[in-house]
Amino acid sequence: MSVSTPQSAVTVLGLGPMGRALAGAFLDAGLAVTVWNRTRGRDRELVARGASGAPSPEAAVAASPLTVLCVVDYDAAHAIVRRDAVAAALKGRTLVNLTADTPARARDMGAWASAHGIGYLDGAIMTPSTTIGTPNAVFLHSGPEELYREHRAVLETLGGTHTHLGADVGRAASYDLALLDIFWTAMAGYAHALALAKAEGVTAQELAPFAKGISAILPPLFEQGAREADAGVFSGDINPITSAASSMRHIVQASEERGIDASVMRAAEGLARRVIGLGHGGDGFLRVTDLLNPR
Ligand code: NDP
Repeated sequence: MSVSTPQSAVTVLGLGPMGRALAGAFLDAGLAVTVWNRTRGRDRELVARGASGAPSPEAAVAASPLTVLCVVDYDAAHAIVRRDAVAAALKGRTLVNLTADTPARARDMGAWASAHGIGYLDGAIMTPSTTIGTPNAVFLHSGPEELYREHRAVLETLGGTHTHLGADVGRAASYDLALLDIFWTAMAGYAHALALAKAEGVTAQELAPFAKGISAILPPLFEQGAREADAGVFSGDINPITSAASSMRHIVQASEERGIDASVMRAAEGLARRVIGLGHGGDGFLRVTDLLNPR
C-alpha cells in the first residue's frame, strides 16, 4: 500500500523491536521515514532500506509533520521529548505516543504537549511486533478526534485495525492496562497450572488441548460478565461463588502439598471468601468486581 499525501513523511523515535517494526511498515508503505534511537546502530537495517537516520531527536522530529514515539515507558519518553530543543522542534507538529504506561501519565503528557503547542495523540499496540504491517495488528488511539482524522491515513499504513476511543488522552492506556490485566493474570494462572500439572506427572503438551478448551470458555463469559458488571447484577445461578471458592481451595491445597507457591490462587480465593463473608455467596465470581471497586 502506498500513501501519497502532504503528510507522507513520518519520524519514528525509539527503535526497539516495536519501533523497528513500525518504521519498517512505514517504509513498506512508501512513506519518507526518519528514525532516531538513543543507542546508535539500531537504525542500520532501516537506513539500508531507505530510512534517514537523524543525529538527534530534535533533528528527527523536524523532518516530518508527524512523529511516532515508541519506547519502553514514559520515563524514557520524557527523557527523549520533554527537553526544550525537542519541544521547540515539535511545536506545530503532531506527536503520536505509542509507548505503554498508565492513563495518568498519558494525560500528563497530553497536558505538557498542549502547553507547548504540540498536537498529541496517545495510543496502545495490543499485538506483538511481528503483527505490524499485517491485518492482525491492533492499535488503539485516543486524543482529539480532528487530529486523529488528520493523521489516520498514515497511521493505517501500519496495518491491522485502528480504533479511536475518544478525546480523553488517557483512554487508550486505560484499555491497554485493563486488557493486559486479563493477559498477565491468565499467563500467571497458566504458568502455575503447568507447575501443578508437572508435579502430578502431566506434561505441558498433554495438558495443552484441554488448556485451549478451557480458555475457549472465556469469551462468552466475558460478554455475559460485561452485561452483568455494567448492570451491577452478578448472577450465580450456574456457578455460585461458594462453589468457585471451593474449587480454588483444592488448587491451593494440591499445590502446597507439592511445595508449589499458590499465592496467586490464594489471592483469588481470598477475594471470593470476602464476598461470601459479606453475604453474597449465591452470586457469581464477578461480584468480586464490586468488592474491588465499590460504586
Ligand atoms: P522496549 O519496551 O524494550 O523498549 C525499547 C526502546 O526503549 C529502545 O528504543 C530503547 O532505547 C528505549 N529506551 C529505554 N530506556 C530509554 C531511555 N531512558 N531513554 C531513551 N530511550 C530509552 O521494546 P519494544 O520496542 O518492544 O517496546 C516499545 C513499546 O511498545 C513498549 O511500551 C511496549 O510495551 C510496547 N509494545 C511492545 C510490543 C512488542 O511486541 N514488542 C507489543 C505491544 C506493545 P535503547 O535502544 O537506547 O535502549
